[in-house]
Amino acid sequence: MRALIPAVAAAFLASSAFSAPPSDVGYDIVEGLTTEVGQRLAGTEAEARARNWAVARLKALGFANVRIEPFDMPVWVRGAETAEIVAPFPQKLVLAALGNSGSTPDGGITAEVVGFSSLEALKAAPDAVVRGKIVFVSHRMTATQDGSSYGYFGAARRTGPSIASNKGAAAILIRSIGTDHHRVPHTGVQNWTDGATPIPAAALSVPDAEQLERIIARGKPVQIHLALTPRMTGVHPSGNVIAEVPGRDPKAGVVLIGGHLDSWDLGTGAIDDAAGLAITTAAAKRILDGPKPKRTIRLVWFGAEEEGGFGGDAYAKAHGAEKHALTAEADFGGDRVWQFRTHFADPKAPLLAELTTALGGLGVGPGSSPAHGGTDIGPMVQRGTPVIDLEQDGTRYFDIHHTADDTLDKIDRAQLNQAIDAWTAMLRVVVDTADPLAALPPQPQEN
Ligand code: ZN
Ligand code: ZN
Repeated sequence: MRALIPAVAAAFLASSAFSAPPSDVGYDIVEGLTTEVGQRLAGTEAEARARNWAVARLKALGFANVRIEPFDMPVWVRGAETAEIVAPFPQKLVLAALGNSGSTPDGGITAEVVGFSSLEALKAAPDAVVRGKIVFVSHRMTATQDGSSYGYFGAARRTGPSIASNKGAAAILIRSIGTDHHRVPHTGVQNWTDGATPIPAAALSVPDAEQLERIIARGKPVQIHLALTPRMTGVHPSGNVIAEVPGRDPKAGVVLIGGHLDSWDLGTGAIDDAAGLAITTAAAKRILDGPKPKRTIRLVWFGAEEEGGFGGDAYAKAHGAEKHALTAEADFGGDRVWQFRTHFADPKAPLLAELTTALGGLGVGPGSSPAHGGTDIGPMVQRGTPVIDLEQDGTRYFDIHHTADDTLDKIDRAQLNQAIDAWTAMLRVVVDTADPLAALPPQPQEN
């Protein structure tokens, strides 16, 4: 029978059912990375495989100086996670631990729930109300095109656990920082601040959070049994993968672009952030295939963004003293670019008019607020590097963000290609502009 297997396999592969789509640099990166690596949690063996995949792909595309720049980071991994309402209406809840969550003892914990409709309400609560309880924060976020609601509502995830811990809570559950109504929880990072002791911290799916709200509103004491077994595994290597389009004039400064290679562990990281890698890499590849630009493009596939921007910090530490003409990152999914923003030393820089002309043809106009970049390029922006944000449509981004649903089928190829066109138009201008791109004064560190 053994001899038959290759023949059967060959016949199967020859059928058109699984044939590959036509070659396309951007889409092929998302498809390849999500299929051949899958999830790539920061600091794990999966992220190391992703780095090797990245090096092979970037070399194959013809980029110069392709290399890995390693750094170390503390690594958190998910364990088992279950929750159920024990009283008054017994039923299971769907949840996912938040990054750096503490764990419950063996067998889990059972405790009374105390609910808050916002992070402000939790902050205002006396410690005695919270002590020994499972805190539930049901802050609800709505979708916006620019994604700006994430800044405010995301605080329930980023700082809620430390606030609850410092008030003596046994654990914290938050309503997912998401805009969908699927029974799929949204994970994401939180950090223990102000000396907070790690406690179990998890996000309920939006329907589960709404169910718990209704049960609490019935007015009877609510008991939950919670078992979470994530753990810190120690300090392990992560790394940035770097590739370049060499420029003619080393004194003109580097154009730093990229996205992040790591993903959360629940989905396969298609929109967050294989799409950003695809957009920036496909655009840089078009410059690589054209006349040699004045400025060098440095493309970075940053490691360990999700767990706290370790890759961006490592990059700035290694390269912060080099002259950077400009920076931009793509970490907001795969949908179309609808607006651009800039932050230049000269608000009337000639480059602004050049960009307005180049992007206007794609239906992308200038916005009214300054660009700020994201987590990966943030440390370079703080050092005064001029920055451009090509803002992508975020209307559906937080339906999928950090969930098991972040998979390849969510990529809209037409929108991905529009974003690549916009990035290409932007890069064509900035690599050769005569604008001196003066540095800005360093910005104070945000917290
Ligand atoms: Zn991201
Ligand atoms: Zn993310």
